[in-house]
Amino acid sequence: MKKQNINLYLASPRGFCAGVDRAVKIVEETIKKFGSPVYVRHEIVHNKDVVNSLAKIGAVFVEEVHEAPKDRPIIFSAHGVPKSVVNEAKQRKMISIDATCPLVTKVHNETIRHYNLGRHILLVGHRNHPEVIGTMGQVPNEFVSLIETIDDAINIKVKNTEKLAYATQTTLSLDDTKEILTVLKKRFPSIKGPNSEDICYATTNRQQAVKSMAKLCDTILVIGAQNSSNSLRLVEVALSHGVKTAQLIPDEYTLNKFLESFNPSLTPNLGLTAGASAPETLVQVLISKLKKDFEVNLVDHTVTKENVTFNLPKILR
Ligand code: SF4
Repeated sequence: MKKQNINLYLASPRGFCAGVDRAVKIVEETIKKFGSPVYVRHEIVHNKDVVNSLAKIGAVFVEEVHEAPKDRPIIFSAHGVPKSVVNEAKQRKMISIDATCPLVTKVHNETIRHYNLGRHILLVGHRNHPEVIGTMGQVPNEFVSLIETIDDAINIKVKNTEKLAYATQTTLSLDDTKEILTVLKKRFPSIKGPNSEDICYATTNRQQAVKSMAKLCDTILVIGAQNSSNSLRLVEVALSHGVKTAQLIPDEYTLNKFLESFNPSLTPNLGLTAGASAPETLVQVLISKLKKDFEVNLVDHTVTKENVTFNLPKILR
């Protein structure tokens, strides 16, 4: 029987960003240098496959510093950590290795600079996300307020509107953040902030690729974890830019479920991307599974090329 045709648009850039790539290498290199086990506070990046493969070579994932023995190295995840966590490792005289993405560190440094200048900081981000906890934890609690929604931006009360700054989580929706910042800048004209928001190049590029791909696709699939802010935003961006359906695919089980119910007559134009913490493996699995059942016309959808790399910390060079 003749296979049915589908167009599969493949977004680029997609998948691993330079910050995730560096964090994974940091764990691998720490194991090479110090032997195993090495301890990693929190998932190094939000992806189970990555975490499991690092666990196999000797990484032990813990939620708090005190869960690791004092005589083994502890690695801080790509999302960054509050100052209190760094201090705890210091007090316990542990070797600590910081895998915080340099673009998150930049936001930490901005936040500290504003605090040193006596400014109250409005951090735009999602409550309880590790990056937000880490950034808020750079300054005393009373100097930072979280802004999650437009309503928060409309209602936030501040003591001194002349001593105010903002910063943003790096993995937010570009469009939602723009709206929130417009409200803040209108309410507080002298608010200080970065020239452009802190949303990183990888988040920006993956969202731009999805936005333009949404014009060509009926359905967009996003490979990425349930707790990956970056991946969840890609699903939202796809839906808000006109696709009929967009779905997060965290694992092969969900992928198979999607394929069981996939009807190419209804959605002959499929788009595929992956969040910044998702390895390419599942993308390739999906392509080969589709090729078994359908005549797949692969369409490269590149919006830009990325050539960002970050150095490893000095201790590992
Ligand atoms: S998504 Fe952006 S901020 Fe997060 S690790 Fe990647 S490059 Fe860094």
